Amino acid sequence: MIEITLLGTGSPIPDPNRAGPSTLVRAGGQVFLVDCGRGVLQRAAAVGVGAAGLSALLLTHLHSDHIAELGDVIITSWVANFAPDPPPLQIIGPPGTAEVVAATLKAFGHDIGYRIAHHADLTAPPPVDVHEFTAGTVWDRDGVTIRVAPTDHRPVAPTIGFRIESDGASVVLAGDTVPCTSLDELATGAGALVHTVIRKDIVTHFPQQRVKDICDYHSSVQEAAATAARAGVGTLIMTHYVPAPVPGQEDQWRSLAATEFDGTIELGDDLHRVEVHAR
Ligand SMILES: [Zn+2]
Ligand SMILES: [Zn+2]
Repeated sequence: MIEITLLGTGSPIPDPNRAGPSTLVRAGGQVFLVDCGRGVLQRAAAVGVGAAGLSALLLTHLHSDHIAELGDVIITSWVANFAPDPPPLQIIGPPGTAEVVAATLKAFGHDIGYRIAHHADLTAPPPVDVHEFTAGTVWDRDGVTIRVAPTDHRPVAPTIGFRIESDGASVVLAGDTVPCTSLDELATGAGALVHTVIRKDIVTHFPQQRVKDICDYHSSVQEAAATAARAGVGTLIMTHYVPAPVPGQEDQWRSLAATEFDGTIELGDDLHRVEVHAR
């Protein structure tokens, strides 16, 4: 069984009730954080997961809303890890990730210096291992495998989706993307597809062109649902709602998805949890 928790279902627009984009995946005793939007560690704490307990941080792309708390994850996984010789934080993302991580470590350079000066048992900066991929198998440990494929969020490029498998269960995390064949292939037959969605039917009516622009490179609810249908997944889990559904509107989102996909449809607030079983 793979357990998915939507830690943050928000978007770049700050929302009092929704943290930024981030999904927790627990599989085979391992814990993966997929993207690390605003407030992610507060939400993770709500389900008993701390930064030091992460098996890996997986980044779909380097948009600010998806990496807003990268510094917090790196620093907290270091400062709040009391093991004598903790292993490096594993970070897997698209090309560009190493540069962003290095710049983040530099931005926190003063903080890192203060802590090393103050605590005798902190003698070196946060240990991190960054792995950049656009395709292929990126993880194979103790029964959990992770495969990556390119997505299409241009002009943001490269961007990747992840397929996590454990004991016959499989989950695909698409991130931000328009429909594309490489995502279809990655998601084929998966137990669940976690897909970011925007309501293009609403967003196109916003007066600001900068808001309308986001329709170019995201999937609508119907497009994400059509991807789920083409790939034959069991469950579509929508997240990263733009605009955020107001209470009572969830059924409308579900019916829009159901026009394209006849499997199980999930959406919810932060901390919404879905169990994905072997098919
Ligand atoms: Zn994005
Ligand atoms: Zn986004």
